[in-house]
Amino acid sequence: MSKKTGQDMKVGQSLIVHGGDGRMGQEILRLAQHDGWAEVISVDRAGFDDVDGIPADVVIDFSSPQGLLNSIVWCEENGVPLVSGTTGLTDEDFKSLERASQKIPVLWAANMSLGVHVLAKAVQALSHLKDWDFQIEEVHHRMKKDKPSGTALFLQEELQKAVGKRELPEPLSLRAGGIIGVHKIMAVSQEELLCFEHQALSRSVFARGALIAAQWLAKRKGKAQLYQLADVLES
Ligand code: NAD
Repeated sequence: MSKKTGQDMKVGQSLIVHGGDGRMGQEILRLAQHDGWAEVISVDRAGFDDVDGIPADVVIDFSSPQGLLNSIVWCEENGVPLVSGTTGLTDEDFKSLERASQKIPVLWAANMSLGVHVLAKAVQALSHLKDWDFQIEEVHHRMKKDKPSGTALFLQEELQKAVGKRELPEPLSLRAGGIIGVHKIMAVSQEELLCFEHQALSRSVFARGALIAAQWLAKRKGKAQLYQLADVLES
């Protein structure tokens, strides 16, 4: 556990970052310091034992599927709202999130960026394209563990809603170098190719989204529910 205190205390809340030693965790800690959260505590593989009894206002989890289950248990026991962007979850993991949301506020999003949220809305326009072929592609850094990415699966769901019962091909995944995240949705007819593309230019886009969601969720402490990122961005 490492504990840091913000300098200007603009936010005035206490935050635990689970997965705090990781790429996303480090970025969230860096931005949270800058934003002036009153207290920012990093927890990683050593677990939550050290923070038992600390009155956190919210937990942000960017760890692993197993790590997320540990966050769920701790947040439920302590009545603390939970924001998570951890991907690679099984159906059982999603059920655990749903069960937890009957006791505490929970917000999970496969992608914490505003751009991907808007892209998901844009996908609805593809419902007008009859008899076109569709393909989602994603590219990420070589250390990424899950494949296809959680965002590609989310966009595939949105695309499926838009095109109805038509069978869609699985998203294509490429792992290369240090790419933070690229998602493309292609629609192709005999005569045209339409491509929607989102590129994350920095991890800070996800960290920023997670911190905005955490601030929002901390204010809903007694309001147990499974929230979406759309609830935050559209409120
Ligand atoms: P990472 O491997 O760099 O960091 C993960 C951290 O979690 C590590 O420090 C690791 O020690 C810790 N961890 C793993 N298992 C743990 C456990 N059981 N208990 C405690 N700590 C544990 O990974 P990353 O790139 O920071 O990504 C983390 C997760 O966030 C991944 O699932 C990734 O796909 C996801 N992600 C989501 C978004 C989004 O916008 N939703 C964006 C980027 C990454």
